[in-house]
Amino acid sequence: MVKRSLSAATIAAQASGYIDAASGGVVPPIQPSTTFVRDRDYEPHRTGNIYARDHNDAVRVAEDLLAKLDNAEAALLFPSGMAAIAAVFRALPSGSIVLVQSQIYWGATTWIRGFCDRRGMNLIEADLSETTQMEQLCATNKPDMVYIETPSNPWLRCTDIAHAAKCAHAVGAMLVVDATAATPILTRTLDFGADIVMHSATKGINGHSDVLAGVLATNSPLSDHWTAMAIDRHDAGAVIGSFEAWLLIRGMRTLPLRVERMSQNAQVVAEFLHAHPAVEHVFYPGLPNFVGHQVAAIQMTQGFGSLLSFTVKGTALDALRVAGKLDLFHRATSLGGVESLVEHRFTIEPHTGIPENLLRLSIGVEGVQDLIDDLEQALV
Ligand SMILES: *Cc1c(COP(=O)(O)O)cnc(C)c1O
Repeated sequence: MVKRSLSAATIAAQASGYIDAASGGVVPPIQPSTTFVRDRDYEPHRTGNIYARDHNDAVRVAEDLLAKLDNAEAALLFPSGMAAIAAVFRALPSGSIVLVQSQIYWGATTWIRGFCDRRGMNLIEADLSETTQMEQLCATNKPDMVYIETPSNPWLRCTDIAHAAKCAHAVGAMLVVDATAATPILTRTLDFGADIVMHSATKGINGHSDVLAGVLATNSPLSDHWTAMAIDRHDAGAVIGSFEAWLLIRGMRTLPLRVERMSQNAQVVAEFLHAHPAVEHVFYPGLPNFVGHQVAAIQMTQGFGSLLSFTVKGTALDALRVAGKLDLFHRATSLGGVESLVEHRFTIEPHTGIPENLLRLSIGVEGVQDLIDDLEQALV
């Protein structure tokens, strides 16, 4: 029999074939215990289970599943996406040179700036979705690490991961990619040459707006950098609780299904907005005339994700008026959940270069005609 690897849909639906050894349950139990017994010979009852900060079964199952979905050898879970990003930077030696994409998730940008300042890191920020810029900045600065986000939030800039990996590796740098908006279903980031992929699992991976989590995955679990991160997580205690890990496992069972429907819905919404006279510009990789479309078409399979932004003709007040008239879209931050959200980023981050008339949408799994009808009545 030819052995072939299972599809993401199968791996996710069955939580990678998990059966609870103790009960035969097809879902893992939630184990709240923070400590685990040893026998009379002082051997742990179960290898690896000593204390909940070290590790626990639910975290191991979730990490195994996440690694498989990203075609990775190892994954590390963190209590939030930002904790995962912080782990990546904290494990770099002081004085490192880091090349970071500009106009990405604002929380990452601000934390990275402060951290690099405190730790004497040489931080270079630039629009790395431009290939010539990426090439030149790598060659002239010889960074230790290149950090990109694709598609970026909220601009949907698409960076060529394979090209970025080539530029980074040519000068001995590692490439770290925040692929939150793509999820492991649309882009298997490591397959394109990235050294580490990061996701805020709070978003599409969990998908139900009820867990904060972050994940890193790699094919070089023996590298000094990965080892340093694993040790730091253990020693400094940025660990996720077993209930959160359990919710993640539950959410991930439908991840491929949700991502497929959300991408289909988002494509329809993007095309509707693109044709609407009250809309100035639509930022969505699935639109054939969008700048990032060519790159996205290569590295995003089965759809272009749930995140899109658009500018309303007019001012901030016009954009806020549209947001205020929406009935179905919740006016809330975040993305990747089953319910559709709208956000006026300018209200949150007025001095970051975000256009005042931009609205960011996270498209959920609702009936797409209901979403279109809602936008239609709000845009008039
Ligand atoms: C939300 C988000 C993060 C941060 O994740 P948290 O889980 O909120 O800490 C990082 N990157 C991107 C692209 C995000 O959307």
